[in-house]
Amino acid sequence: MVKNIGVIGAGIMGRGIAYTAALSGFNVVLQDISEDALARAKDYIESLLERSVEKGYVQPDERERALTNLSYTTKLQDAARDADLVIEAALEVMEIKIDIFKQLDEFAPAHAVLATNTSTMSPTEIAAATKRPEQCIAMHFFNPVHRMKLIEIIRGLDTSDETVEMVKQTAERFGKETVEVNEFPGFVTSRMNCLIGNEAMNMLMEGVASAEDIDKALKLGLNHPMGPLELADLVGLDTRLRNMEYLYKHLGEKYRPSPLLVKYVKAGRLGRKSGRGFYKYDEK
Ligand code: NAD
Repeated sequence: MVKNIGVIGAGIMGRGIAYTAALSGFNVVLQDISEDALARAKDYIESLLERSVEKGYVQPDERERALTNLSYTTKLQDAARDADLVIEAALEVMEIKIDIFKQLDEFAPAHAVLATNTSTMSPTEIAAATKRPEQCIAMHFFNPVHRMKLIEIIRGLDTSDETVEMVKQTAERFGKETVEVNEFPGFVTSRMNCLIGNEAMNMLMEGVASAEDIDKALKLGLNHPMGPLELADLVGLDTRLRNMEYLYKHLGEKYRPSPLLVKYVKAGRLGRKSGRGFYKYDEK
């Protein structure tokens, strides 16, 4: 039975996973190599708890318990040492994920399961960096983690049935639904979503319609809850570009990143997190 969860990477996804896990009753250690990222994650988690109590989604005693359940560190060992499950949510760069998994394999207890929150990449390749590939898996969460119902579960070549079962049970305790997907670049959701988003960016570049009207067309005409451009801004355009580059490399031409996306990332327009992407945002 999972009690202790280590989360590696305190960016958009890591902080959301830590928040949801702590509120679901797990002890959580959130790690990042950046002190700044940790401080921002702590602020985010504490103000989200505050707002959720004000709105009545979270009871005051649940907030207190979540705060007690959470700790923050820059040392990977601290997040790994007592973990039953580690969820890695660092950058979407294979070399970084492999390096983290090597360290987790060294520092996490022998029984611990190591999961990656990759959006596109091969859990088999990441697991091969460890001596416990049967205990490695991908748990693909969605943004914002506390609101999105799904976790996509992807087995690597050697992932055991016990690991899949453990991860499914943990997802249930997070209050999430799961789908099990065979390993293939981009799984189900990123493969589909990246294509729609990229087409929207190309349409914007070609002058087919404004960003507002492209998003409105998909929301009101096709019943998407969010437009593809506002969703890309929420994801982070740097992360989306890494996803596209990986899919382009592995699935070919139809995933070639839109030149507009490349240009925006070069300009530092990374979406909500930088205050500007396809739209402008007041707050950073
Ligand atoms: P982000 O850029 O917001 O955060 C990444 C964090 O990882 C940063 O704080 C960075 O300091 C940290 N980091 C970098 N190297 C590290 C290391 N070696 N050890 C520990 N921390 C390290 O990125 P994100 O959007 O949170 O994405 C994280 C992962 O989740 C990626 O694999 C991404 O593809 C995946 N993902 C993202 C979304 C999304 O909507 N943003 C959705 C699902 C999955």
